[in-house]
Amino acid sequence: MVFFNHVTKQYDNGIVALDDVNFFVDKGEFVFIVGSSGAGKSTITKLILCEEHPTGGSILINGINLSELRHREMPCYRRQLGMVFQDFRLLPNKSVFDNIAFAMHVRSATAKEIRRGVPNVLAMVGLSAKAKARPNQLSGGEQQRVALARAMVNNPPVLIADEPTGNLDPTTAEGIMNILEDINKRGTTVITVTHAQDHVNRMKKRVIEIDYGKIVRDEIGGYSNEC
Ligand code: ADP
Repeated sequence: MVFFNHVTKQYDNGIVALDDVNFFVDKGEFVFIVGSSGAGKSTITKLILCEEHPTGGSILINGINLSELRHREMPCYRRQLGMVFQDFRLLPNKSVFDNIAFAMHVRSATAKEIRRGVPNVLAMVGLSAKAKARPNQLSGGEQQRVALARAMVNNPPVLIADEPTGNLDPTTAEGIMNILEDINKRGTTVITVTHAQDHVNRMKKRVIEIDYGKIVRDEIGGYSNEC
């Protein structure tokens, strides 16, 4: 569950990136967040990750009020979130298997759990055959699938994908969007920030559109009907 309750974010330079933003994403939903560059989309993900803090209003994630979160509780909180970024952010000197194992290691998984967990998520993203490859031996789409596997290996209740198809061609991007949909069907709440209008229109999910820091649309369906 993700709840933005009258959230405002003004940066130190005076720019109001979010202005009284209200939305509620229920457990198990799939939501796109769209809007032009500078609209405030990344600010939403930064607030969810606690990399930035709101200047007004409150944010609740899975019942946790982020303003009450203590510094020492942060690692535990962040483990509830799977994150995928446009630039994949894989460790270049580690194999696909080890990139994913690392995420399990960080939360003190046992060797047995890792031996079982990594192949499971690699199968989910269709990359079982690439476990030993290094990221630079993979295509962009494959790298993003590894990033998705890594994000999901600890079974987070919420997955945030920030422009996950930004560096990919349309066909590869469709494959990534389909995996996000599969992940959602298994029960994970998925929030995808994207410019990929074609995919948003095709998938007919809930779309929250931001413009100049305000929500201008929140409904099931495609991208903006205008223009
Ligand atoms: P989007 O992700 O939709 O492109 P952002 O959330 O990155 O939009 O930015 C929203 C607004 O906030 C923009 O005007 C941007 O210049 C400003 N902004 C973003 N990050 C910062 C920051 N760290 N300091 C000051 N202004 C920022």
